[in-house]
Amino acid sequence: MVNLTFNTTDPEEILLAQRYWAMDGEGKYKENVAALLPFRGLTITAQLSAHMRTIVTATDPNQQCPKCGNFEVVTNRSHVKRKAGVMRFKCTACIEAERALSQAQRQQASNDLSKFLTTLGERRSRIRTEYANLPADIVLLLMALDQAINPRLAKGTFRESECAALVPGHVGHFIQKLRGAQVIVDHPSLTSSDAYEFQDGHLSYYPKKVVYKLVPDPVLSNEEVLGLLRNMELKDNAALRELWLDYAASECIAYLDNQCEYHGMSVGYDTREEFFSSVRLALQKYSVTKVWNVIWRVVREALVLAARSYSNKTKASATIPGKLRRHLEKVEKGEAKPLEDWERPNWQGAGTLGNLFTEIFSIDETTPGTEVMAMFPDPTFDEGELSIDAEPIRLAAHRLFTAAVAHDLAANALITLANGIKEGLELSDAINNVFDRHPGLNEPY
Ligand SMILES: [Zn+2]
Repeated sequence: MVNLTFNTTDPEEILLAQRYWAMDGEGKYKENVAALLPFRGLTITAQLSAHMRTIVTATDPNQQCPKCGNFEVVTNRSHVKRKAGVMRFKCTACIEAERALSQAQRQQASNDLSKFLTTLGERRSRIRTEYANLPADIVLLLMALDQAINPRLAKGTFRESECAALVPGHVGHFIQKLRGAQVIVDHPSLTSSDAYEFQDGHLSYYPKKVVYKLVPDPVLSNEEVLGLLRNMELKDNAALRELWLDYAASECIAYLDNQCEYHGMSVGYDTREEFFSSVRLALQKYSVTKVWNVIWRVVREALVLAARSYSNKTKASATIPGKLRRHLEKVEKGEAKPLEDWERPNWQGAGTLGNLFTEIFSIDETTPGTEVMAMFPDPTFDEGELSIDAEPIRLAAHRLFTAAVAHDLAANALITLANGIKEGLELSDAINNVFDRHPGLNEPY
């Protein structure tokens, strides 16, 4: 038997509702709905059911909400249950209350975000950079960006996706470098708000969605700034060496991606990171065209591996960085043929950054890495300290710091690492020791 609460004082309507919901002892309805018609202007059952919802609230004592314990409101005869029980789902009132709450929370979060973005936008607009003091790598990168998106760097705005002419492959790393140097900055007022997320007082953003602008100089106009760059002396060897290695590595990654795509293979995030480190090290010795030669070879070796019954393309592509290192070791020991100079593929341009390296320093994809390193000698770089033999340490250190930052354990990891070394552990053992002491670092992130 349903419980009725009347929303009307009209005795005829009350009687109608009582007849509509009346049941016998076995839970069967005493009258057919059709028998209640016509009632005033109502002639069909659908009209009667709709009217019923406005004059009476019926609750079914056989349906109890698992959350609030109240009985479910029923609006239709067929919704009533014959046997008492706890509902599998929350009642309509609870669901609606939750929906309203989450809607209010979303609204609040959206208000918080837009308030925060307004403040952030004002702060961004006040940033100034003195271009006369820029380091050489940023000067070169900025000149290349100017050529890649001309004339928007001086006069307008741009997104990361519009900078593809800067370097072959992904430009994200280079755009972040410029953003880090505060020569370009994202402007929330020019960007759609879904590019940003504000949670627990922390702002994050999607690098591909935000809109960037050149940061103004305190005195010079944008055009004067870009003119100044062209006349600046590029003297910081260490910075130029790093920029070349990043650029040359992106030439190699673009080539790798193309080769893998051609053969239906893809390279996972961890493999890319490992490949990036290995290739950057190789580029200190070899030209880009020679490294392309190795990549061409190891991608084919990986394909042969993928065809074996115990392997597949995903497993095989993960072996590419290791195959690259082993092949280079063999070449160095004279166990494999010297590397050949590969031709620049016609689908891969050098990008405006590559063109500037050629124009200013006469370096291109055919220049041996050793020559580039000699051209930009770094007095603080000790060649004997980390050689190709030390690549496992490089990778372990990379893995450690990436995991430590991702799990917010950077300080703990550093302290444990320092203690391990103080106790006399070798560097690689000290790194393993950190993973042992902080098992959380082995968790996926
Ligand atoms: Zn409920």
